[in-house]
Amino acid sequence: AAALHSPLLKNLNPEQLAAVTAAPEPALILAGAGSGKTRVLTTRIAWLLQTGQVGPAGVMAVTFTNKAAKEMLTRLSAMLPFNVRGMWIGTFHGLCNRFLRSHWKLAHLPQAFQILDASDTTSAVKRVIKAMKLDEERFVPKQVGWFIAGCKEDGLRPGDVEIRDEQTRKLVEIYANYEDQCQREGVVDFAELMLRTYELLRDNPAVREHYQRRFRHILVDEFQDTNKLQYAWLKMFAPPGAGTGQSLLAVGDDDQSIYAFRGARVGNMADFEREYRVKRVIKLEQNYRSFGHILDAANELISRNTQRLGKTLRTDAGLGEPIRVYEAPSDFAEAQWVIEEVQSLHRGGLDRQEIAVLYRSNAQSRVIESALFNAGIPYRVYGGLRFFERAEVKHALAYLRLLENPSDDTSFLRVVNFPTRGIGAKTLETLQDLAKASGRSLYQTVSAVPGKGGSNLVAFANLIDSTRNLTQGLTLREIIEQVLETSGLADFYRTDKDGAERLENLDELVNAAEAFVMQEGFGKNAVGLPVDEVAEPGTPGAVPDAETGEIMSPLVAFLTHASLEAGDNQAQAGQDAVQLMTVHSAKGLEFDAVFITGLEEGLFPHENSMSDHDGLEEERRLMYVAITRARKKLSLSFCQTRMLHGQTRYHVKSRFFDELPEEALKWLTPRNQGFGSGFAREYQQAWARGSGLKGMVGAGRVDKPAWVEPPVPASMKPKVSDEHGGLRVGKGVFHTKFGEGVLLTLEGSGADARAQVNFGRHGTKWLALSVAKLTPID
Ligand code: ATP
Ligand code: MG
Repeated sequence: AAALHSPLLKNLNPEQLAAVTAAPEPALILAGAGSGKTRVLTTRIAWLLQTGQVGPAGVMAVTFTNKAAKEMLTRLSAMLPFNVRGMWIGTFHGLCNRFLRSHWKLAHLPQAFQILDASDTTSAVKRVIKAMKLDEERFVPKQVGWFIAGCKEDGLRPGDVEIRDEQTRKLVEIYANYEDQCQREGVVDFAELMLRTYELLRDNPAVREHYQRRFRHILVDEFQDTNKLQYAWLKMFAPPGAGTGQSLLAVGDDDQSIYAFRGARVGNMADFEREYRVKRVIKLEQNYRSFGHILDAANELISRNTQRLGKTLRTDAGLGEPIRVYEAPSDFAEAQWVIEEVQSLHRGGLDRQEIAVLYRSNAQSRVIESALFNAGIPYRVYGGLRFFERAEVKHALAYLRLLENPSDDTSFLRVVNFPTRGIGAKTLETLQDLAKASGRSLYQTVSAVPGKGGSNLVAFANLIDSTRNLTQGLTLREIIEQVLETSGLADFYRTDKDGAERLENLDELVNAAEAFVMQEGFGKNAVGLPVDEVAEPGTPGAVPDAETGEIMSPLVAFLTHASLEAGDNQAQAGQDAVQLMTVHSAKGLEFDAVFITGLEEGLFPHENSMSDHDGLEEERRLMYVAITRARKKLSLSFCQTRMLHGQTRYHVKSRFFDELPEEALKWLTPRNQGFGSGFAREYQQAWARGSGLKGMVGAGRVDKPAWVEPPVPASMKPKVSDEHGGLRVGKGVFHTKFGEGVLLTLEGSGADARAQVNFGRHGTKWLALSVAKLTPID
């Protein structure tokens, strides 16, 4: 009874209290946004620990994003008198990584295995396709990557995939070769982390039972977005009906299921209820996050969906301010408006980190980023092009990876000729062929390559070896500094005319490493446990160091962190910065002020989802997630014209505006200008004349009518340079090999002139204008 008087439990409503203190048995909380699900989950962990019902090692808590996991740790540290870092709290991928680090031998991985992030995965797939001499137009690496991830998420190895046609046969062949390649190189992709862990538990009863005895309480946030494999994975840790006395708490909201496109199964909630014989589904109906207008808008919008389990949400807070709506003539103008609003909110006393700018697709962030940058406002992008994805940082990480694992071919190829060492494409092709034939890594094959190219390769391998020797016993910071020097990277950027910013990023890498070491406090934590006290059944190599409890070297831990985390980026760590992210990555988070931008048909709802009912319902759930992130202020915006994929597109406002309660909205621009205005009439006529009504629902990919120039604020007018043959930043260009693209940057002059172009499918490339033939397209 004393436990019920814990100060932790103050401020909980009766339903929340019941959930926090529920008996240790399987339970499901099904409740709407902002009703305190995550708070209940976190408080329950704290309460269980505080009342001594379980020790820190007996708890596992899983959530979806790194940011959410961090937030959970922060909330927990505030409630508990000890350091919670050693606890099993994290994302599915993070926990899998931790698991596989302990059981690398059983998992048939090298101890220092590396993780491929999304772009590494694509380039690894690409190498396989190339080695198989397949047509990259037919087997687009990124899409093949999705196929492989999809198989893995269904728990299917190449041999398990049902082959229905020739295309599938080839895809499966690529999958099999890709697996071999990863295994040879000692790397795993994100989906592999999950599948490998699952299989290891499935096939090793001793390990499985060990963990089942260990974890008394397993808690899962955002359960509605678990996929088949994740649910199966959970069942390995806590099988239903096994009488192991474990307690599972699943927490979710069917209205926030937004990963169906990646295999999430809302049905897991019903399965969970049935398989674990959940006695009572806990509902929470009080919303503590948002003011009335915001909640009304969310409720009304989501009520249009037909596939719902049904929940209600109410708030005691007042109506608050109405939702502001702004229609902009162009994406530039929209960004400009957001910036002005952000500045005025900040002047009004709001911290920047309490302001979030959300968008449906990553590509939309560029315009907003550049406007923020120009206005000198610090910002941080989550899930977009992150610090750890920048070219110079990836180069440095590749060298570091090679120190740990020289057989990591992805890293090898990235830096073998960067800075240049006279190793050409021909040499590398020979090397790859030889490596493939002998089943060895590139590093192991260097001496087999004849000629000058071969001796240059050997020199590179020696460089890696000597750097490894030089860095023995150094701290992480010193290792990185050493690597930047011996690799020649630092020198390269020092002499490069535009290297200053890249050098800064490399310095920032050193800082990030330093901060990482401090934060992780390797091996020591106040819980008094070693980082991982698991006794390794059958894998003596992974027993943590007796003195420090350390199982990973700081370097390996840091490299892992770099692959897994949306690292720090534009704003420096700790700096108050505006938060930019996609709606997907905002799930579970909350901010005082939220901007939802790009609310246009074809963008949000997304054009790929508009044609079918289920797709549209998922978009609506996504919009529901977006709206419910806001505590006090919500703004919605859309524009008439937008540059996308190298074309100016003419847009109409999102249908979601018609699904929101009129009383909750305050239009800053005249309502319905979209369709009522002269502009829109002409737009409609253009459609009628052109492609008919077929595309009316979609983003208009119309031929650009001559009578409308997208209005651009004077300050953002693109620079015109005659010297560059009429090329303009922000405009379309054509390249004979890569096709159409958008010019992002133009710099240098004469023989030095360079252009950075986004070619969509072919990615963003830097081109020397003296060589590349770029023609402007209007
Ligand atoms: P989402 O579905 O968006 O993940 P959620 O249900 O997880 O939302 P929380 O993030 O846990 O909701 O809570 C929303 C906000 O309400 C948080 O700021 C939380 O601290 C606050 N809150 C929750 N319960 C209470 C309460 N009983 N009293 C006061 N504030 C509360
Ligand atoms: Mg939550």
